[in-house]
Amino acid sequence: MPLSNSQYDAIMRIYQQKQLTNRARLLKRREEISNRLPAYQMLEEEIISLSMEEAKRQLLQDADTLSTTREAIHSLMEDKRNLLLSNGYPEDYLNEIYDCKDCQDTGYIDGKKCHCFRQAEINLLYQQSNLQATLESENFSTFQMDYYSKNLIDEATGTNSFMLAQSAFDACLQFTKNFDYEFENILLYGSVGVGKTFLTHCVAKDLLENGHSVIYFTAHQLFDTLAEQKFDAQNADSIPEAYQHILDCDLLIIDDLGTELANSFSTSQLFLCMNERFLRKKSTMISTNLSLGKISETYSERTFSRLSGNYKLVKLIGEDIRMKKRRSKS
Ligand SMILES: [Zn+2]
Repeated sequence: MPLSNSQYDAIMRIYQQKQLTNRARLLKRREEISNRLPAYQMLEEEIISLSMEEAKRQLLQDADTLSTTREAIHSLMEDKRNLLLSNGYPEDYLNEIYDCKDCQDTGYIDGKKCHCFRQAEINLLYQQSNLQATLESENFSTFQMDYYSKNLIDEATGTNSFMLAQSAFDACLQFTKNFDYEFENILLYGSVGVGKTFLTHCVAKDLLENGHSVIYFTAHQLFDTLAEQKFDAQNADSIPEAYQHILDCDLLIIDDLGTELANSFSTSQLFLCMNERFLRKKSTMISTNLSLGKISETYSERTFSRLSGNYKLVKLIGEDIRMKKRRSKS
């Protein structure tokens, strides 16, 4: 979708900033190594002088000495690598640093927008920047099982809260692992504060890190955005550009479905959006406080059948974790 010139410039400025920051980080690392490991510097100098030698041998077509020189360079490179490793540094410590290795922070691969550029567009157009900060603290590695009790039993399934949380966690993890191979959608349901939003963040973080485009909306935000301009899925040409990402991004997360004021407009737009993504084989993850029965009452029958037929249903029960946290703080 075309960005305005100023939006495009804003994104390109972010890339320039990334390049500058990473360049500065690398210079700092180089300085650190030359202070801490003077032998590293010496090895580098030897390699440079041997490389000049190598070039000379090549010009003179001196095959015998050329291969000896090459071997010597190779062995010095190995020494450099071992020196870093034996001093507790990763072997790529002095390699160029990139936020995105795929496009080397240029935003483009072979003249085409990199996935990181597309995500930058999404972040700008749909104001996703708050999400990035949240994902630092809410992800698979920080999910805590001890908020879920083994004594709290879900009457409908006979399973306890702990087991449900464990299988919800596993289902979300599996969803991200299989993301490139299997087309799947997830509906997370359960009462307020049982960790549904947290799990959507876990999935978002994992997929973003693996180069997928993700849009995270609360149901409010989604319907506000959809209300700005209606689209008619029957007529692909009429789909406003602002929606293309909503329909096209690798994962659309709709958090807290049911907390918005549902009306006939929002329910039909929700169906169109879900349906269009389904046809495009783009995954959607929805979280809701509503029970399955309430979903079918609130939204249309066709929305409900899309959900029940094509979404993996994942349930969570428990005490309100936010309340628990507040209690343990006081
Ligand atoms: Zn990139």
